[in-house]
Amino acid sequence: MEIFDKMKEFDHEQVTFCFNEEAGLKSIIAIHDTTLGPALGGTRMWNYKNVENALHDALRLSKAMTYKSAIAGLNFGGGKAVIIGDSAINKSELLFRTFGKFVDGLAGRFIAAEDVGTDVKDMEFARMETKYVTGISKAIGGSGDPTPVTAYGVYVGMKACAHEKWGSDSLNGRKVAIQGAGQVAKHLIEYLFNEGAELFVTDIDEDKVKKIGELVKVQPVKPDEIYEIDAEIFSPCALGAIINDETISKFKFEIIAGGANNQLEDEVKHGNKLLKKDILYAPDYVINSGGLINVANELEGYRQDRAMKHAEEIYHIIKQVIKKSKAEKISTVEASNKIAEERLNNISKIRNIYSGFSSYSGRLGELTKR
Ligand code: NAD
Repeated sequence: MEIFDKMKEFDHEQVTFCFNEEAGLKSIIAIHDTTLGPALGGTRMWNYKNVENALHDALRLSKAMTYKSAIAGLNFGGGKAVIIGDSAINKSELLFRTFGKFVDGLAGRFIAAEDVGTDVKDMEFARMETKYVTGISKAIGGSGDPTPVTAYGVYVGMKACAHEKWGSDSLNGRKVAIQGAGQVAKHLIEYLFNEGAELFVTDIDEDKVKKIGELVKVQPVKPDEIYEIDAEIFSPCALGAIINDETISKFKFEIIAGGANNQLEDEVKHGNKLLKKDILYAPDYVINSGGLINVANELEGYRQDRAMKHAEEIYHIIKQVIKKSKAEKISTVEASNKIAEERLNNISKIRNIYSGFSSYSGRLGELTKR
């Protein structure tokens, strides 16, 4: 494996390999781009088959974080850490405190949060060794559960799509098919129910649907039937790669707006297929950026009202993405990628001006001393 070739392929700034035998730590921290600020991203613990797979995941996910931060209007760069190991059996205080030590060594270039395979408790161990950790519990001054903010962002993003399709952002009477009845979906369902939407919900865990059904009126659906529901909106809130050749052929939906990550099996191919079918797709990393907004908010001293206010901006960001997609006749994913890249390019110009000035003034200081 040629690491520098991989870094060049994804356009990375820095990759750090962290190893400590006693703690059983094998970790890779990938910093993709710090144009906007320190790299912020989750820490994924996964039993990767080999180091190549772990590195690939760290590079791919950290690049995605650069785009997510950029489009959400945050001043953070893209980063991701992966820890190689089985999260069910290899976790310990020592492991995460050792990981925290390595994060601290990066002196703020990377800020860690939780992700698949890690939780608040793990991040709190890391936090004992470094201040560069976010997403800790409310009890110790953190932002706690991000799902209410994520769900709110999905809700307003869905309304922006409705406005675009039907000239009104009201979801009253609209049929919405929701895949997953987990944390994000639970809050989203509450917003949609209160607005008078008709809800069709599925989960592989039927009990979760039942529990939600005790609180609000929902129609339970079998997991493999969700793609064919005669609803106007589809909201994937479970897992990735569910928008593919097979499922697209079944869709009668007019809008897809959900919280799940990596919904498109192939970003380019399936983004374009949805465009051709005139299905309005809210890019996942834009509409679900409330989670990132929430942990970013913690770094300024957490206030949920401020996080919610920022998440509300997702409405306008989705509108902006749709406008560009229409004007340039490109998929919404391509449009959002372009908007993120434009922001990065613009801000990098300011950074160049700044560094030019500081080196000049430095030299000037030396000259005036003589
Ligand atoms: P969760 O684990 O609480 O919920 C996911 C649910 O999906 C579970 O109830 C699970 O049983 C169900 N599920 C799994 N496979 C399914 C299938 N084939 N059909 C139907 N249901 C299935 O997770 P969550 O925190 O609600 O997150 C949901 C999605 O949103 C994930 O993709 C996550 O990466 C993404 N996301 C979450 C946040 C956040 O703040 N939690 C932020 C951004 C993105």
